[in-house]
Amino acid sequence: LPLGRDMPRLLRYRSSMTAQFLYRNRLRLALKDAPQQGQLALYFQPKIELGTGLIVGAEALLRWTHPEMGPVSPSDFIPVAEQTDAINVLGHWVVEAAIMSLAQWLEMGALTDAFVLAINVSGQQLMQTDFSDQLLETLQLAQVPAHRLQVEVTESALMGDVELARDQLIRLNHNGVTSAIDDFGTGYSSLAYLKHLPVSVLKIDRSFIMEIEHNPQDQRLAQTVVNMAHNFGCQVVAEGIENEAQAQLLAAMGCELGQGFYYARPMPADEFMAFCQHWVRQPAALKPA
Ligand code: C2E
Ligand code: MG
Ligand code: MG
Ligand code: MG
Repeated sequence: LPLGRDMPRLLRYRSSMTAQFLYRNRLRLALKDAPQQGQLALYFQPKIELGTGLIVGAEALLRWTHPEMGPVSPSDFIPVAEQTDAINVLGHWVVEAAIMSLAQWLEMGALTDAFVLAINVSGQQLMQTDFSDQLLETLQLAQVPAHRLQVEVTESALMGDVELARDQLIRLNHNGVTSAIDDFGTGYSSLAYLKHLPVSVLKIDRSFIMEIEHNPQDQRLAQTVVNMAHNFGCQVVAEGIENEAQAQLLAAMGCELGQGFYYARPMPADEFMAFCQHWVRQPAALKPA
């Protein structure tokens, strides 16, 4: 390789590596103060039952706004937090905030019987032996029935110490907290974990939904996931639904639930409550207002 000619590119690459390193370092430091400084918030994105058009739950998504950097995307700060203990601090904050919201909504009488709130849980959190006990204790203190809460874990989160993760999920499940496999289809793990884990929901990753209305391969993939999930007694959520054609296709495949910008973007709690109040249920064949 003629190194001389490639030097500028090499340098640019090196300096972008440095910039990324510095940025991640800055995030790592800034994250330490985020919880106490009131920089965190939970946003909520509704989950829709495709067949009836009813809102049957939501996913809680963490938002971080830094006073100088502004909003930082979870795809930037979650991986950074996962390199240190920070993910456990953030995770703890998320558990408390989600359960507090549930408690408030239940007291307001704002939730239908079917409503379940899902939170995202990292692999490291599942490796904490007291994770499930703390979560269950928080539910009890807030007097929120355990079946109102669901944990979303990715396949990769289950690839570390599977035994430890399994213990946590089983303890949660025995007490009524259900679990979902997030981003299903993107991990490289074998499917063997499905027979050992108390999983009640598979979430088809957005990458298989994005072009599903044009792509027969994606259609076959989604249909396979739906059939497999049903064979294991699981429900299916399609994530990232952006148009009516996608919703209709997935409904026809037997996919129970959908989530995506077509219905709503993630929003703050008060907006989410207003959204639910004004929602007019529309089965997948009809277009939302
Ligand atoms: P995820 O759990 O798979 O969450 C779904 C992501 O897809 C969210 O991005 C959501 O805003 C986005 N999304 C939903 N519908 C659509 C759509 O129709 N189109 C498009 N383009 N995007 C859609 P977000 O909020 O940026 O979160 C990114 C990821 O960060 C999450 O992926 C999750 O892995 C992680 N994350 C977010 N909050 C938490 C948290 O509290 N704890 C942990 N451990 N991870 C979190
Ligand atoms: Mg998720
Ligand atoms: Mg997901
Ligand atoms: Mg995803």
